[in-house]
Amino acid sequence: MIQVKQLFTALLDLILPPTCHICHSFIPNAGALHICPTCRDQLPLVTSPLCPLCGIPFIGIGNDHRCGKCLSNPPHFDAARAHFLYEGSIRDLIHSFKYNRLTHLRSPLALMTLEGIHTFLTAQDIHLIVPVPLHRSRLRQRGFNQAVLLGRVIARDLSLPMVPDALIRTRQTEPQIELSAAERRVNVKGAFSVKKTECIAGKRVLLLDDVMTTGSTMDECAKELKKAGATTVIAVTVARTAR
Ligand SMILES: [Zn+2]
Ligand SMILES: [Zn+2]
Repeated sequence: MIQVKQLFTALLDLILPPTCHICHSFIPNAGALHICPTCRDQLPLVTSPLCPLCGIPFIGIGNDHRCGKCLSNPPHFDAARAHFLYEGSIRDLIHSFKYNRLTHLRSPLALMTLEGIHTFLTAQDIHLIVPVPLHRSRLRQRGFNQAVLLGRVIARDLSLPMVPDALIRTRQTEPQIELSAAERRVNVKGAFSVKKTECIAGKRVLLLDDVMTTGSTMDECAKELKKAGATTVIAVTVARTAR
């Protein structure tokens, strides 16, 4: 059976040679990622020292410590982590995934993130995954919710349930990208609501999205999840901005 599978893979490689999602060069053993070792080594990572609460990385060396923002105004989530910095090739990959509808990029993005934050994540004893929802009009326009697609890969890999409609976006919000930090907080305030309290009460929730910038969306979602009785909310994104 293994030989048949190997033969099939070899034939498929001949017809459709596996290429790197970033540099488009041929990769003989592409695996599930389809990103060549050279490109992978160059991807911008979030590394310590960082804020253990919001996950923002600090410049230089030293121990992890809470950032000024988390000290003065702690978020509603218990911790946030991203594997990549939202720049360079990762920014391009996420952009292609979301706006050019290259939905097959969900696998390398989700799997690399899982691998990068695996130790942190397994220590959280998560019960279920809740993706950050899109408003129904945005969902109609895009055709998919990127957080749900990433969530499916992560749910399968970690053998965890995902509840895509536990949290809903009740109000259409402006794209956060064009707004200042203060405007972002106002923009998402009261925009989310928990629809399935019975799934959330007493649970340790992994709140999932593709990118975190100021963290205001994650904070607002976490506030609602906690109101609905979630004991812990761990916010996970593929990438985050450095500041
Ligand atoms: Zn490459
Ligand atoms: Zn912080």
